[in-house]
Amino acid sequence: MPKLNGRIALVTGAGRGIGRAIAVALSRAGAKIVVAARSEDELNDLVDEVVAGGDAAEAVTVDLSDRSQARELIGRAVEPFGPIDILVNNAGVGSSGDPRSFVEFRDEFWDLTIEVNLNAPYVLSKAALPHMLEQGWGRIITVASINSRQAALHGSAYTASKHGVLGLMRSIATEVASEGVTVNCICPGPVQTKMNDIRIKYDAERLGRDLAEHEKGLTLVGGRLVPEDIAPMAVYLASDDARMVTGQAYNIDGGINMA
Ligand code: NAP
Repeated sequence: MPKLNGRIALVTGAGRGIGRAIAVALSRAGAKIVVAARSEDELNDLVDEVVAGGDAAEAVTVDLSDRSQARELIGRAVEPFGPIDILVNNAGVGSSGDPRSFVEFRDEFWDLTIEVNLNAPYVLSKAALPHMLEQGWGRIITVASINSRQAALHGSAYTASKHGVLGLMRSIATEVASEGVTVNCICPGPVQTKMNDIRIKYDAERLGRDLAEHEKGLTLVGGRLVPEDIAPMAVYLASDDARMVTGQAYNIDGGINMA
């Protein structure tokens, strides 16, 4: 029997990149998935693929930079299949969106980054938890970052949001550990996605390096990760196998951080 049979998962930022890979992996492990982001086409493409394979998936469009939409998301996400057992906070704004030195940082980009990367996981976790606590089983998995551990140059909002979300998740984990709900983070290194493609171009240009050479040296293992390198950890954390794992943050980063 697939590990997640009968579970219902909500994955934010699931239209592409890491979120898409996690959503597909949760689905293959037996979960019914609800996928959320702004880009309807990307979500529909994913849903079509999953449904064509005989599994259950529904899309919900949402802009998580809008607090009122974030507040309503869990209520909308329960409509297709029922209450959410597994929440994956993955949607994110990268430092690549507007990289600047701290003194030149734009307040608007600061606010956007904190809203999507930190406030949305706060709002969604709060809304998803009552059902998880009531049934005595739940999983909150947040895609944090290598920048939850070290600074991203010219990315103070990203660094602050990713350090912050790690603290938030540890705090929630502390409160719900004895109630059957686990709360964990995954800290990816550089992964081949739209967000990171822009970031590594910025860094290669800034350093006057050839892009391919720059990319090769990004991890100890060599090169960048792919989204499918991240997804199996999400499946593990969502499963009963990980029932004693909570308050953790797992580096999947090709050896960059050895803590
Ligand atoms: P990506 O391919 O650009 O995907 C980002 C996802 O977030 C998209 O589905 C996007 O969908 C969604 N999103 C962004 N703003 C949103 C908003 N306002 N409302 C709703 N959804 C929104 O990037 P990714 O690399 O897969 O990033 C996924 C997560 O991994 C992020 O939290 C990121 O910080 C983290 N991460 C990435 C890396 C990396 O190297 N790629 C490393 C460490 C951590 P729409 O644009 O359609 O809304």
